[in-house]
Amino acid sequence: MRTRILIVEDEETLTTLLRYNLEAEGFAVDVAGRGDEAELRLAEQTPDLILLDWMLPGLSGIELCRRVRARRETERLPIIMLTARGEEGDRVRGLGTGADDYMVKPFSVPELLARVRALLRRSKPAHVADLLAAGDIELDRVSHRIRRSGHEIHLGPTEFKLLEFLMQSPGRVFSREQLLDGVWGHDVYIDERTVDVHVGRLRKALNRPRQPDPIRTVRGSGYAFDETFSGEG
Ligand code: CA
Repeated sequence: MRTRILIVEDEETLTTLLRYNLEAEGFAVDVAGRGDEAELRLAEQTPDLILLDWMLPGLSGIELCRRVRARRETERLPIIMLTARGEEGDRVRGLGTGADDYMVKPFSVPELLARVRALLRRSKPAHVADLLAAGDIELDRVSHRIRRSGHEIHLGPTEFKLLEFLMQSPGRVFSREQLLDGVWGHDVYIDERTVDVHVGRLRKALNRPRQPDPIRTVRGSGYAFDETFSGEG
């Protein structure tokens, strides 16, 4: 599913410019021209990020931001405030209300796009990167393909999810229990040794002779995707 961005802005020329550029980046874009309209929209569907103008008809950006933060479903929703005001006091007030970032008009679109990407990476790392890459290994989450040194690797669905889960947090050591929760789900009761079986299968599919093993066994703890993995033998 594409990442959804809600633009709440009453200046149509700016809305058109932002929509055009965000869609060109592959985002799905919704637009609301009024604060109250945006609030109704948010009650129906939660986007992945909001670009929120400060001065809006219906309901101000600041008030909308406050309400978004007060709702459990949206309390952590990334918000970038857009405003014509640039005084330090307003900046602090904007961030104090719970906005994650703040841009003063007129701003450069490439800079805004960079901040959107950075904020999405922080809030939803899994959402932004369709392709996870480390060393000579590439994992494409859209096509579900894995390549190592350009050669396609065939994995079962569980091994794919396991590798994807590990590659999302390079260097982090996961216990067998955490891997069960992350890959198999919280409500599934499986013996922890099942994890070892699937890690074994994953290694067998992934590693050819003389190729380094990107999965590190941490004795007594669990497994990690090696952050220093370079793929060079
Ligand atoms: Ca405005």
